[in-house]
Amino acid sequence: MNQEEAGEIKVIKEPAWVYVVSGLAGLLASIMVILVWLGYTWQMHKSAAKTLNLTGDFMSVQFEEIMKSNVQTLYNLKRRIEITGGDYFEYWAEDAKLILDQNPGFMFIEWIDSNMIIQDIEPLKGNEAAIGLDLNNIDYRKEGWIQASKDSLINVSNWAKLTQEGHAFLVDAPVFYHGKFQGTITAGIDFTGYFNFAMRGRDAYHIELYDEEGTLFFEHGDSSVEGVGNMYYENDIVIRPEKNQKWTFSIEPNDRLFETSVFLEKKVGLILGFMLALLLSVATFFILKTRRSNKREGIINKELRKLNKALEKAKETAEVGSKAKTEFLSNMSHEIRTPLNAILGLITIQKDKELDEEQKRKYLDMMEFSSKNLLALVNDIQDIDKAESGSMELHPVSFSTTSTLNKLLDLYEAGFEKKELKLVRTLHTDNVDNVYGDPIRFGQIITNLLRNAFKFTEIGQVEVMLQQQLVGDKIEVVLRVVDTGIGIPEESLPFIFDRFQQVDSGLMRMYEGSGLGLAITKKIVEKMGGSIRVESELGQGSTFEVQLMFDKGEPAEPAVSKHENTANHNMGKLLLCEDNPINALVLIKLLEDSNVSIDVAKNGKEGLEMVDASKYDLIFMDIQMPEMDGIEATKLIRKKGIKIPIIALSANVLSDAVNEALACGMQEYITKPYTRSDIENVLTKYLGATAI
Ligand code: ADP
Repeated sequence: MNQEEAGEIKVIKEPAWVYVVSGLAGLLASIMVILVWLGYTWQMHKSAAKTLNLTGDFMSVQFEEIMKSNVQTLYNLKRRIEITGGDYFEYWAEDAKLILDQNPGFMFIEWIDSNMIIQDIEPLKGNEAAIGLDLNNIDYRKEGWIQASKDSLINVSNWAKLTQEGHAFLVDAPVFYHGKFQGTITAGIDFTGYFNFAMRGRDAYHIELYDEEGTLFFEHGDSSVEGVGNMYYENDIVIRPEKNQKWTFSIEPNDRLFETSVFLEKKVGLILGFMLALLLSVATFFILKTRRSNKREGIINKELRKLNKALEKAKETAEVGSKAKTEFLSNMSHEIRTPLNAILGLITIQKDKELDEEQKRKYLDMMEFSSKNLLALVNDIQDIDKAESGSMELHPVSFSTTSTLNKLLDLYEAGFEKKELKLVRTLHTDNVDNVYGDPIRFGQIITNLLRNAFKFTEIGQVEVMLQQQLVGDKIEVVLRVVDTGIGIPEESLPFIFDRFQQVDSGLMRMYEGSGLGLAITKKIVEKMGGSIRVESELGQGSTFEVQLMFDKGEPAEPAVSKHENTANHNMGKLLLCEDNPINALVLIKLLEDSNVSIDVAKNGKEGLEMVDASKYDLIFMDIQMPEMDGIEATKLIRKKGIKIPIIALSANVLSDAVNEALACGMQEYITKPYTRSDIENVLTKYLGATAI
């Protein structure tokens, strides 16, 4: 199956605004996600800072407590010596050993006498070098120690490098008894062990402790790990409140703090948020797309429903049309066969029986009547075809409407009398001027309406009214045919002017007819620029009214006898091209009494030769002929530059055939069967009134 067979596959592109709205929805959602994320981050930092402060405060207290409890231990030793008035001094070394055993931060405990000389030290091992040291020679010790000996307050040195290696805080506890300063019990304490113990598991922080001089003496955590934001905690740890001596303590959280599940969740949350925003954007796009396609579907459904309705209507119309056509064909067949049957039957009777002149005359009249009926029917078919193909032409001349009407009514009078119907003619003519129009078509309107009135009226009368008046420079003619017949049901009125429409149709119909009369009448009226309308009441009768506007015609010329001065004088030489000898004979006989002579050619070819051989005034040309048809012959005649009027004679009534004949150079088209007057009209037109 190729593309064309499959129908064109149309990719429906969404308009730009659908993409923009979807994008905006995604963008808006992303902004919301970022805002929420920032808010959350800010909240987290706030609470992290709070936690940091709390942790810092807590650690400060821990450090302070550790330091204080160690100093307190030394203080207790000093107090025992003082309280005993120096008696306990001989046990201080034993006591110091105990302290050293129980407190791992104590590196050593020594006795420094009032002369600032280190006299004794526990443990001695490893600290021998300290014995005999004079603090006067140690600058960083001297001042603090002397101060302590004076104010009797415990002195804590800065982080000091020891003579015997290592670092420690030197804590001097001045001892007074017997009313004077005796020396100091001094300990070297390294708090870092305690601090490390207290800080275990605190890997998310980088902790630093500085002594009063700003020397870093304790550090915990990896300083190479980068800190987080500008989160930082700093505090003073008061070592000796009496001396306002402080250490500085700082902590800084590192990014391990942020590797906790909360921070992970935050990151995952952000990613999820963006994914949701993307999802929202895509969902918006699809919702819009679906809504649009639903709308489109709705419209298509509506269109389909409309189309279905139209199709149903078309189907109904087609069915009605086809029914009407079937009825028409069956009527037509009936209408054609009835007169044909009469004609053939009457011919058989005349052949078989010896008839007297009167009987012959009667039968011939009957045959003529039947033939005329048949001809009227064929004419109707031809007319409706002409009207519907738009090729109906009017041949306007000056004529009198009243005399046309009167002539026609005269023809019908006898029929009305026979049917015991009254035929009333009412003429309101303020103006009796000739009108300029087609008298034949005007007569056809009257005939059709009158025939129907006659056909559908059994009792009463038919009144034909003609009203003619001057309206401006035009002549208005109103024709009314009023009968007291069967009438038309109201529901049929809208269709009465449609072709093939009959109130009474089917096999049981009472009235004969083709259903074409009113359709043709309406077409003629419209062609003349007029209007037709009907009023009717069932059982009461019908009124048909035609309104026409004509230009003013020429005044009537006094009638001239057609044979005057021309009797037996040949007024024209005609050529008839006709292959059918009977038809040729009919034309010859019809023109027997006229002032023309006729030569006959059996086909177009012979006709062409005869035109070459002699001069003709007019040619009657059959269309369908053997060897060379009328169209071909006409073309060749015209090709030779011969301008003789050529009149087509044909049984083909279809508009295409007429158009073709006129297009190839013929002047008129007369359809078979023709009447004497058809022929006479042509002769008058092309050869003058004297030809007949
Ligand atoms: P036809 O008379 O050949 O059937 P027409 O087109 O002239 O066709 O008329 C169509 C139909 O209109 C007639 O069959 C008839 O039913 C109805 N009709 C026309 N004229 C009259 C009338 N004067 N009174 C009653 N019915 C009429």
